[in-house]
Parts: sequence; structure tokens; C-alpha cells
Amino acid sequence: MPLVTSRQILQPARKHGYAVGAFNTSNLETTKAILAAAVAQRAPVIIQTTESAISYAGMDVLLAMITTMAKQARVPVAVHLDHGKHPTVVREGIQKGYTSVMIDASHLPLQQNITVVRGIVRSAHQKGISVEAELGRIMGTEDIITSREQLFTDPKEAKQFVRETRCDALAVAVGTAHGLIKSRGEPRLDFARLREIAAAVPVPLVLHGASHVDPQIIALANRYGAKLRHTQGIPDSQIRKAVKLGVAKVNIDSDLRIVFDAAVRKFLKTHPRAYDPRDILGAATRAMQHAVERKIRLLGSAGKA
Ligand SMILES: [Zn+2]
Repeated sequence: MPLVTSRQILQPARKHGYAVGAFNTSNLETTKAILAAAVAQRAPVIIQTTESAISYAGMDVLLAMITTMAKQARVPVAVHLDHGKHPTVVREGIQKGYTSVMIDASHLPLQQNITVVRGIVRSAHQKGISVEAELGRIMGTEDIITSREQLFTDPKEAKQFVRETRCDALAVAVGTAHGLIKSRGEPRLDFARLREIAAAVPVPLVLHGASHVDPQIIALANRYGAKLRHTQGIPDSQIRKAVKLGVAKVNIDSDLRIVFDAAVRKFLKTHPRAYDPRDILGAATRAMQHAVERKIRLLGSAGKA
């Protein structure tokens, strides 16, 4: 099936109250797992790469691999550049075959963010490619939290931002954080804010940093030698609620890394004579497929392809 843009799969998702999973990849096995899961669940899916995945594998190699595999799948797939921080990389991505890009200028003041995003939107839309932008700061492991209020997306600003940039999807900061975060107690999304943002902007909303690694998977990794700390993450019930309120794209990255790690550790311990990468990574691929299918069902996109 030919590739689609994010806009083509996210607009129906927002309209009908489900979300599409956007899964990060940097290798063959993860890509295989995502696509196999999407096909098994008959779900539209977004496969995305960060700039660091591009540094790891090279944009040409990644794109050739993902687009070749995606076109063979019988479900709609968008190939998305996640967190493009450098306009040069984003423009290269637009030229080379991504069907969707994110320009993340959220570290800049509002007006500058608008200017940068508007420039990218113009180039992308000329080629029929959709654009995600971010307003507010979604925290990462390396960030130092100062004031939550200053970081969260302001609904009024969101309205102005979407109107002036004409972006196709908006990543919002409502209480999630990137990576595996140590947190005291269960994180709580700011649903009142999310509701206001959804009422103010018509475009699909995007949730980053919504990882919730199954504690059993962390326990499994640790049983086979990992030293991962248990993390809280955003519980499934809160994800479901956010999707009902207008979140149409949910980014998933850390979850799959942990599943991969746990599966490889377990396989090597239980198969001490294994040496074929296809066997070792095959076990990881099956585990990741299972995890992706679970997320697809959680987000409500199963059967929507
Ligand atoms: Zn993100």
C-alpha cells in the first residue's frame, strides 16, 4: 500500500475519538515488529525516527528500509521525522521521502517558534507532507523542572499558534515527560487544560512522553541482569481519557526499548549456546510486536485500517 501522510490518518482518528500509535525505530527488527503488529491488528500506524536515530543509521538507509517495508504492509503507514530540532535536517527529510515531519522549536519564545514552524509548513505543504509542531515544553530526563505552569501548553497560545503556523498536528505539554522518569507517586495529566486546548484547536493533538512500561517487563529485564528502576509512567486509564479528549497521536519509544532489552537478556540466559543474531533478535522482535499490539488496542486504532 502506498505511504500516507500523518494528516490522512490522524484527522479521522481525532474525529472518531481514537489515537494512532507513533512508534520510534532505528533498526530493522523494531520496524518489522511495528509493521507486523499493525497488520495483525489492522491498524493505521506511524513509524518515526528521531535525529539521533538518523545519526545512528543515516537518513538514506533508514528511509530506504522503512519505506520499502512499509509499502509492503497492507495497512496505511506514515513515515515521520520525530523531534526535528534542526530546520536543515527537517528540510532534508521533506526532500528525501518522509511523509510527515515534526519541527520542534518549542524551546523558543512563542513568536520565534511560530516563525520557524511557519517556514517549515510552507515547504512541507508544497510537497503534500504534514507537519507536527510543539508548544509548551515536554520535559526530558535531562531537564531541570522549574515551574510546571510555565512549561505547560497555554490554550490561548495554542489557538494562535495553530492558526498562524497552519501546522497539521500539535504536540502539547500537559504533564508527560520523555524517557524513563523517576517520579514520586502516579503522574497526573492536566485534563482540564487538555480539554481547553482541544476546544481551542481543531487539529489532532499529540502526546509525547506517555510511556508506561509494564512493571512485569521491567521485572523480567531485572531478573536477567538489568538494573532498571521501576517507573510510574502514565497509566492506561489516563491515556484512554486523553484520547477521548482529542489526543490522536501517541508517541511510543522507551516502552519498546525496555521490551527489546528484556527479551534479549532472557534469550541469551535461557539459550547459552545461541550465537545467531537472527535467533537472538528474533526473540526481541516477537516481544516488541506483542507490546505494539497491546498499545494499538489501548489507543483504539485496532481495526481502523
Ligand atoms: Zn517527544
